[in-house]
Amino acid sequence: MASVGSTVPLCSGYQGKCSRADLQCAQLCEVDGELQIQFADDMQEFTKFPTKTGRRSLSRSISQSSTDSYSSAASYTDSSDDEVSPREKQQTNSKGSSNFCVKNIKQAEFGRREIEIAEQDMSALISLRKRAQGEKPLAGAKIVGCTHITAQTAVLIETLCALGAQCRWSACNIYSTQNEVAAALAEAGVAVFAWKGESEDDFWWCIDRCVNMDGWQANMILDDGGDLTHWVYKKYPNVFKKIRGIVEESVTGVHRLYQLSKAGKLCVPAMNVNDSVTKQKFDNLYCCRESILDGLKRTTDVMFGGKQVVVCGYGEVGKGCCAALKALGAIVYITEIDPICALQACMDGFRVVKLNEVIRQVDVVITCTGNKNVVTREHLDRMKNSCIVCNMGHSNTEIDVTSLRTPELTWERVRSQVDHVIWPDGKRVVLLAEGRLLNLSCSTVPTFVLSITATTQALALIELYNAPEGRYKQDVYLLPKKMDEYVASLHLPSFDAHLTELTDDQAKYLGLNKNGPFKPNYYRY
Ligand code: NAD
Repeated sequence: MASVGSTVPLCSGYQGKCSRADLQCAQLCEVDGELQIQFADDMQEFTKFPTKTGRRSLSRSISQSSTDSYSSAASYTDSSDDEVSPREKQQTNSKGSSNFCVKNIKQAEFGRREIEIAEQDMSALISLRKRAQGEKPLAGAKIVGCTHITAQTAVLIETLCALGAQCRWSACNIYSTQNEVAAALAEAGVAVFAWKGESEDDFWWCIDRCVNMDGWQANMILDDGGDLTHWVYKKYPNVFKKIRGIVEESVTGVHRLYQLSKAGKLCVPAMNVNDSVTKQKFDNLYCCRESILDGLKRTTDVMFGGKQVVVCGYGEVGKGCCAALKALGAIVYITEIDPICALQACMDGFRVVKLNEVIRQVDVVITCTGNKNVVTREHLDRMKNSCIVCNMGHSNTEIDVTSLRTPELTWERVRSQVDHVIWPDGKRVVLLAEGRLLNLSCSTVPTFVLSITATTQALALIELYNAPEGRYKQDVYLLPKKMDEYVASLHLPSFDAHLTELTDDQAKYLGLNKNGPFKPNYYRY
């Protein structure tokens, strides 16, 4: 761990010393009242290769969420795109490199514009790049990544490169790649292996191409869903000898890491980005508040004023959806199993009901529980004509869609992602995205929210990569709170928000360090 008081020659004009005293966090320090990332002490360590016994303390904490991250809707198709698999094509970028596999490298210019648009709302990452112009906190890092490949992730990848890392990247989802963005990354020299509409075989081939490269061995993993980590465990376990840490974003991936940890098989530290406050609050609550209406309107053109909507689950996602629906004048009912969340719903002015009590009258049913069989065939049978049914939770089993695949019901695809399921008496239920995540399938996700998650990922990589021996064991960790606060503070300038500073007297009174962390770990926000 960097010693307190070490200088941090990060930005021009720096004269100060670290004042951080009691933090686990190695990378942040107070410089002239401003938080900065601290790299200097650890720079020597970048060149140290982990020894067999002393592989840099790999401890873990996991975060989650590939399935919870989303791609931008913009996508480019070109009549020159053909049906030839990218694996069969010989492509080179303008510098003559063919160290990539994308749909069509000629789309790079269009993809670059998409990335530039995303950069405008991802100023935290851009400021990280600027702060690290001299010192490269990821110098020597060889990051193998598997995430959605979108304009927003491209901003993350290019930030990691600007911080000194070499990156090889594949997609965590066979549909979510923005081909033009992948092309722009390849043109910029990133070894990217991904295209929209990969087969399952392509999917694993792309991951393999990222990991299995002569003369290049990864020392960090950034995963979203756990497939990359799984592949390395299965096929290249020796790679873990050099891996300093895994950063995982998805619920599923985090779950897998905890399973590995429980079985004593996790051999490196991992960061659970999913459960960091900045990810949970912003991705789940605010992202859903922004995208629920977008998904519903794009697919159905529905008007919400006066409509009766039932939202199943009043957790973070449910709260976000309800806030948006209420704002448009919908009459919102909640179902909950947890009395605390139910009471919150009551206090927020919603009626808490059992689904059975309202199922005949509602116009829209939205599931947000992360549970299964919340909407059953019995509920679907009782819905009124034209009722819209959709899911905002992670799993596509919240609505029992399988129960609708019976001979007496007719399915009619009326639009992309919109099915009318027709009962023998002519009643139609409007099923969106076949019960998969509505906003992932049918809307865009605000870049700003993705910026928060991406910044958290970048800081988690920096933290794990630079952590001194012993800080992290072979376990799953949460990002230190100080870093969560740092992620938030990097986003405040976008709003010209001015933080109040504690006086010495106030800090003493509250028992806080003036520079944070400002809340205990158990604080719920
Ligand atoms: P959460 O745990 O905060 O909320 C879920 C709520 O559902 C809880 O309050 C729980 O008591 C309630 N619940 C569980 N079973 C229920 C049932 N049978 N009937 C009624 N209520 C029930 O979780 P969250 O952060 O709100 O996430 C919910 C789901 O959404 C998860 O699957 C998560 O992965 C997913 N998610 C989606 C997005 C998105 O953009 N769509 C973003 C983040 C997370």
